[in-house]
Amino acid sequence: MKIAKDFRWEMAHRLQCHKGKCFNLHGHSYKMQVEFEGSVNTSTGMVFDYFDVKDIVAPLVDELDHSVIIWEKDSILIEKISELNSAHVVVPFETTAENLVRYFLDKIAKATLPKEITKIKVRVCETENTYAEDVVKL
Ligand SMILES: [Zn+2]
Repeated sequence: MKIAKDFRWEMAHRLQCHKGKCFNLHGHSYKMQVEFEGSVNTSTGMVFDYFDVKDIVAPLVDELDHSVIIWEKDSILIEKISELNSAHVVVPFETTAENLVRYFLDKIAKATLPKEITKIKVRVCETENTYAEDVVKL
């Protein structure tokens, strides 16, 4: 059985490695689907309570909402955003959708989860027609 919950947030970033438009500081209305797979707990009738999913994932999303996510090697952007006193989160990776998937998967997998859960899938959409997705087996 699979259950999933969707999350949304607004965030700015830029890609240092990109030769085109994504080098520029720009924003996305991010959408993420977090999916849990496992057997249904016979006493609760659930794989995982949606409220518990929200308790784990919402703080991770809230930290990023209306902020600028910045790769730690992008020192000029860290300096300029700090001068503006604007919300930002510094991370040890280029801020691609793929790396954001890994960022969320790592954090969610470390949370206290029901023992019935065998797999976590995270899909991050930067735009309406693009996504990155990966799976962690527990
Ligand atoms: Zn982008």
